[in-house]
Amino acid sequence: AVRVSGLVRSFGDRNVLDGLDLAIAPGEFVAILGRSGSGKSTLLKAVAGLDYDVTGDGDIAVAGEIAVAFQDSRLLPWLRVVDNVELGVRPGRGTAALAEVGLEGRERAWPSELSGGEQQRVALARCLVREPRVLLADEPFGALDALTRIRMHDLLRELCAKHQPAVLLVTHDVDEAIELADRVVVLHEGRIGLDVPAHDADRTHLLRALGIGVAA
Ligand code: ATP
Ligand code: MG
Repeated sequence: AVRVSGLVRSFGDRNVLDGLDLAIAPGEFVAILGRSGSGKSTLLKAVAGLDYDVTGDGDIAVAGEIAVAFQDSRLLPWLRVVDNVELGVRPGRGTAALAEVGLEGRERAWPSELSGGEQQRVALARCLVREPRVLLADEPFGALDALTRIRMHDLLRELCAKHQPAVLLVTHDVDEAIELADRVVVLHEGRIGLDVPAHDADRTHLLRALGIGVAA
């Protein structure tokens, strides 16, 4: 569903992505870890087709409709919450999607009237109604409390079971990556430094790959 090969993206003289290869099969859930500034959001934007400055002989192929939940939810401030969710799709499903993310009754609110975590959940609802073949999510649970996060995990799992999208989820949470994904990859020095099945993934090993020293 997603195939990235030899992707190069530089800012100034620094190659943030430096010949990166990554393939995600239909229905496969890949979690991507990496230190802050390692290029995770840059990769997501490139896969989403929103970056026109990728260079080199790299290639990105994506099959099917994409939905993206950005790190900053990117709701349109001049549209009410429900209209943000239903933007570009058949109207009428926004209310149910908002209820699924625990925002029943907030349809008519403006994005600016919502908390950061609520805005993230609207962004997730916007992805839900699209039933995408490819779902890209950049730390979609970052601003959520523990209970809401667990509910959103369950919701995402349900969505994946039902529609089998290919998922690329950026997270800083090693445990979340292992719990949700089929495969966990670590972005390091512009490439995939580690790529392991989640059931084999070892917390300590992943933290080491992230360059975080762990006391024995
Ligand atoms: P975080 O975990 O903090 O979200 P990230 O892995 O998503 O980090 P990116 O946002 O992809 O990191 O950024 C990777 C590097 O590229 C950073 O050093 C950043 O400063 C740089 N960068 C990203 N976008 C731009 C830009 N538009 N102009 C210049 N530098 C940029
Ligand atoms: Mg980022």
